[in-house]
Amino acid sequence: MVNLRFQVVAEAFRKKPVEVCTPQERPSEYFAKNVFTREKMYKYLPKDIYDRLTDVIDNGSRLDRSVADAVADGIRRWAADNGATHYTHWFQPLTEGTAEKHDSFIEHDMKGGMVEEFSGKLLVQQEPDASSFPSGGIRNTFEARGYSAWDPTSPVFIMDDTLCIPTVFISYTGEALDYKAPLLRALHAVNIAATDVCRYFYTDVRKVNSNLGWEQEYFLVDEGLYSARPDLLLTGRTLMGHASAKNQQMDDHYFGIIPDRVQAFMKDLEIRALELGIPCKTRHNEVAPNQFELAPIFEETNLAVDHNMLLMSLMKKTARRHGFRVLLHEKPFAGINGSGKHNNWSLSTDTGILLHSPGKTPPDNLRFVVFIVETLMGVYRHGGLLKASIMSATNAHRLGANEAPPAIISSFLGKQLSALLDHIENSDTDALIAMAGKQGMKLDIPEIPELLIDNTDRNRTSPFAFTGNRFEFRAVGSEANCASAMTALNAAVAEALSDFKTRVDNLIASGRDKTGAIIDILRQDIRTCKPVRFDGNGYSDEWVAEASRRGLDCQTSCPEIFRSYLDEKSVAMFSRLGIMSEKELEARNEVKWETYTKKIQIEARVMGDMSMNHIIPVATHYQSMLIKNVSNMRGIFKAEKADRLSARNIELIEEIAARIAAIEDGVDALVEARRVANRINGAYERAVAYHDTVAPKMETIRRETDRLELIVEDDLWTLPKYRELLFIR
Ligand code: ADP
Ligand code: MG
Repeated sequence: MVNLRFQVVAEAFRKKPVEVCTPQERPSEYFAKNVFTREKMYKYLPKDIYDRLTDVIDNGSRLDRSVADAVADGIRRWAADNGATHYTHWFQPLTEGTAEKHDSFIEHDMKGGMVEEFSGKLLVQQEPDASSFPSGGIRNTFEARGYSAWDPTSPVFIMDDTLCIPTVFISYTGEALDYKAPLLRALHAVNIAATDVCRYFYTDVRKVNSNLGWEQEYFLVDEGLYSARPDLLLTGRTLMGHASAKNQQMDDHYFGIIPDRVQAFMKDLEIRALELGIPCKTRHNEVAPNQFELAPIFEETNLAVDHNMLLMSLMKKTARRHGFRVLLHEKPFAGINGSGKHNNWSLSTDTGILLHSPGKTPPDNLRFVVFIVETLMGVYRHGGLLKASIMSATNAHRLGANEAPPAIISSFLGKQLSALLDHIENSDTDALIAMAGKQGMKLDIPEIPELLIDNTDRNRTSPFAFTGNRFEFRAVGSEANCASAMTALNAAVAEALSDFKTRVDNLIASGRDKTGAIIDILRQDIRTCKPVRFDGNGYSDEWVAEASRRGLDCQTSCPEIFRSYLDEKSVAMFSRLGIMSEKELEARNEVKWETYTKKIQIEARVMGDMSMNHIIPVATHYQSMLIKNVSNMRGIFKAEKADRLSARNIELIEEIAARIAAIEDGVDALVEARRVANRINGAYERAVAYHDTVAPKMETIRRETDRLELIVEDDLWTLPKYRELLFIR
């Protein structure tokens, strides 16, 4: 028997870094080379069309057909000049990836030849045959087909030979079938609500943007080793595998020298990402061996989400060119740090003010406090929903483990900011405001340094930490589409800001002066949202007890957590803000539960297969060798001496027999649990059954197989071990 494991290990050791062809130009010159940027719009579009299109992009005005035709023609000429032969509507269905269906530009010219054409109609709207995308029954319910519609706020780009047009994917009756449509609606809602609140402070603000800077963590595994692990191949994580003697305890990987093969991969990836307009900024080794991170400069949220989706697909492609596979799963290896995707989030105005950043004047600082507190209000009110927005079968492995944000949404503010909120809470309004003659209003708000010092020493255990001029939503999973978290967060903050505005306006209408009214309501809100503020250790057991005393959502079961989307307050918020109707929420939850079930189901099948076809045969083989040895001993020694000499082997034979039996029982129980769960009607109930009865059985099997890995002779073991997966690069 040839052991594939040794072959792939030997090959992996021989691999050299792949030569990367570096462009002649500087990064600043090839940045966005493959994107239809404003500069290119200006070059390829007639002036009046350019003006109309930028008006659509900047101000959300309507795009009429004649403009669309002219834009499509300009885009086609640019695409042709850059070698594109095909085009596609690029969208984000409710799966983990993106979807595309390529068509070429060619059409009959009716003279026996071909012409290349691209009409406004094709740019603006298409009907992909999308019956196979998850919709949670929306298309049945509404008897409507799905179509994709151009999102002009995210620029078109060229990937290889294909012009990609970012689109939303919705049903003919308008229900969202993707991640982008609700995100755009949430961004619109937060723009309206935040702009209204901004007007208390600055009359010239016309628009508020939501910003997102994600930090993408990932693992790289040698492709050969990967292919010898059915679990990695089919589920993205190792379902078994004993910890290696060394893992991350030496902290020698974090920020260490980037290995050569990885460096080549990163270089290649960044060149392609920069050409696609993704502003890659930071790269480094992460905490776990073979774990890395890439972070761009933050961008407007919709664009940042598209760029993250694009980057994840680029990573997968590029990794293969370098003989790696990229693991985006949140927890590929038990006992080793998982991967997240911190979402750095803030709001800023079209006039250039970062609303979550302290300013120089008292009104600026009052504005800062308002945006901090109303963000906390959103997080406090919708903590359960925010958790649901980041939850998945895969991210569930990471939350709650002592290395990632805990499964309780709280917010870290740091000493200075906490002291400031306490000061406002405990002073009365008139003491905070003093009219100081010609200088106008004076606010007794303690000076806020522009650089909030204690936030450099951040609390890494907080799922939603303030980090100086933004919040960092750390619970987002590495594999996730950030749109889910960003939709929930921006919606929650939009609702909080809009409630704030209503209450302040009511006070003003009853005769209170504006600043007084703002501070009165602010103080109320500081008190209300206090339970969500927590600067301590989020990993401690005391916190779990304290959080439940505070009434925070402490649910840890993934299928239960999804229910938060259907809470009365979630439904009310989403529908009031025009983001999603109750029907849409129900349909999407159906998809979440089904996806959860399918993932566990696939894992359970793979677990069964690996146990029966890899582990048990190998263990039995080794056991037979031991038995042979014991029986040979009896051939050359007297029985009593032979038994004494074989004592250890006899123990092992028994241990292997017991563990094999336990695995067989485990697999039977797993199959039975699945059979029972599969008969359950209702996506929610089935997911709960998979969570409660199927998933735990895999843990039992794993314990046994991992013990066998320690016993069985290394030469026989067919699955690449943790030390090989984690240390060969
Ligand atoms: P860390 O120290 O947490 O790794 P970085 O300095 O690498 O943080 O930044 C992480 C991300 O946060 C980057 O994408 C960065 O552009 C982004 N970021 C910085 N300031 C803001 C902000 N005000 N709003 C949103 N994102 C921001
Ligand atoms: Mg960070």
